[in-house]
Amino acid sequence: MKLVLSCIRCGSTDFKNTEHANYLLQEDCEDAKAICDKCGLEDYVKCLVITFK
Ligand SMILES: [Zn+2]
Repeated sequence: MKLVLSCIRCGSTDFKNTEHANYLLQEDCEDAKAICDKCGLEDYVKCLVITFK
């Protein structure tokens, strides 16, 4: 089980900028954006839901 980002719109945990998932616990992810691979939602990493997978 690991921490992953979850899309707030569709719940998918697949993102195009998946490298940002590695920065979840780092302060420099504040302005990083991730794009949902499923619905295309683009949002700041800090706004996404962090969940267990
Ligand atoms: Zn989505």
